Amino acid sequence: MLRQALLVASRSGGARRVVETAPFTGDVVRRFVAGETIDDALRVTGGLTGEGLLVSLDVLGEDTHDEGRAEANAAHYVELLGRLGAAGLGRRAEVSLKLSAIGRTFDEDLALENARRVCAAARSAGTTVTIDMEEHTAVDSTLGVVHELRRDYPDVGAVVQAYLRRAEEHCAELAYEGSRVRLCKGAYAAPAAVAFTDKEEVDRSYVRCMKVLMAGKGYPMLATHDPRLIEVAGALSVLNERDDDTFEYQMLYGIRPQEQRRLAAEGAQVRVYVPYGREWYQYFMRRLAERPANLRFFMRSLVGR
Ligand code: FAD
Repeated sequence: MLRQALLVASRSGGARRVVETAPFTGDVVRRFVAGETIDDALRVTGGLTGEGLLVSLDVLGEDTHDEGRAEANAAHYVELLGRLGAAGLGRRAEVSLKLSAIGRTFDEDLALENARRVCAAARSAGTTVTIDMEEHTAVDSTLGVVHELRRDYPDVGAVVQAYLRRAEEHCAELAYEGSRVRLCKGAYAAPAAVAFTDKEEVDRSYVRCMKVLMAGKGYPMLATHDPRLIEVAGALSVLNERDDDTFEYQMLYGIRPQEQRRLAAEGAQVRVYVPYGREWYQYFMRRLAERPANLRFFMRSLVGR
């Protein structure tokens, strides 16, 4: 119930104004968000890659409803990728892109064109793009865009959300040679008709999907902080005789940082998803919805002031 309420609040203008303007918010947000500017993003990326981690940078700002804003968001990604390449970080840092930030909600062709610009800039910087997955109603169109982009940019990453009932089917379709696939549980509100709503069911679906991806020919990107699922992933890599460089773990910036470093020290590839930018509200609310402890941390910082 609380999760649903927070996810609804993530879309509410009123709740947004209250949270954004509260004086205590800044410190808590900084735990999950690298900063507001490209300089902040590059500084954090340099630090993480220096420690042997990989990075995926996400420019915050989703649900864009006008063309100018969509173009500006794509241009920002192009600038970021130029700076990433110039800083020599392209080999260890990619970008994550939400199609809703570059026009998907009002013009799918525009979103595809903008995504192409971002992919071209990524190629020049020597890196890749992963297309984030958003609400369940956008899954088919997002996978369609990924499919189109892969004609010219085969290394574009796709995302499967294990909470969707069709997740295993999507994994089977995507587990082909060269196909980079991020598997996550899913962070948006979704009805029982299309998604598992029970946590245990979602976890079981994640395991089934992982089995398909790890046994397949693609490049699985296992995005979870869940210790049990990380253990299963390790077992599946042994079972499928996968070398460390044939798959990666992914975690969010600020969540289980010690575990990120422990896995990397054991030789695993670990990518940290690093969001930055001014429009942190929706991302932040999804993090609170995921875990009561994140919400407690937020409330404690409120009381502590
Ligand atoms: P949870 O069920 O949230 O947590 C499972 C267990 O993990 C907990 O019981 C706890 O043991 C541990 N844990 C979790 N959080 C913490 C914490 N803060 N501190 C300590 N332990 C913790 N979602 C999408 O819908 N689309 C996307 O494109 C997308 N991309 C993502 C990319 C990355 C790299 C990651 C990591 C997540 C992404 N997500 C995306 C979000 C994802 O769907 C989940 O909402 C989020 O990762 C939480 O799920 P979890 O697997 O960590 O499991």
